[in-house]
Amino acid sequence: MKNIVLFGPPGAGKGTQAEFLKTKYNLIHISTGDVFRYNIKNETELGLLAKSYMDIGDLVPDEVTIDMLKAEVNDNPEANGFIFDGFPRTESQAESLDVFLKEKNTGINGMIALEVPENLLVERLLNRGKTSGRSDDQDENKIRNRFNEYETKTAILKHYYQNQNKYFGVDGVGSINDITVRLEQVIDKL
Ligand code: AMP
Repeated sequence: MKNIVLFGPPGAGKGTQAEFLKTKYNLIHISTGDVFRYNIKNETELGLLAKSYMDIGDLVPDEVTIDMLKAEVNDNPEANGFIFDGFPRTESQAESLDVFLKEKNTGINGMIALEVPENLLVERLLNRGKTSGRSDDQDENKIRNRFNEYETKTAILKHYYQNQNKYFGVDGVGSINDITVRLEQVIDKL
């Protein structure tokens, strides 16, 4: 199994790249943000709960998010591996993921981080907001809050995976294809 955490701040290009990588490596792509949005659209209990946090750019509580992630993984027992996109976002999520995968006799092969300067991220998100319909991409205050959540709760995960020798930084600036090639160079060695 190959399990990859695709990491980076909002707007780094995780979702875009995951679409290419999942086909090339035959992996299941789990985007926790997409799963939450799907639940909001379908007005499920989980969606109602997540909405209040997502609307202002706060993280959804760990317990809810971890349970949802586990259910997504368990729904794909035949998978060749997973691309985790937008998860883990806190140390507690990362620890739970390690324990959960270990129980399945597998683990994370590597965290690959897309590195993009903040001014470019804001530009990308506001542009995406024009077509995505995502309210959290249309308001600069919400974007700034998401960055703040990232800096205070998520960025530390770099050290979490560095301590396990599993962190790989990739330059996330350039054409989509150039960035895919950079990611593939890392994944091929995992
Ligand atoms: P994303 O699509 O990854 O940008 O996520 C959009 C929003 O979904 C985030 O701003 C959070 O409110 C929520 N979310 C997605 N993934 C997580 C996670 N792993 N932990 C907590 N909240 C999350």
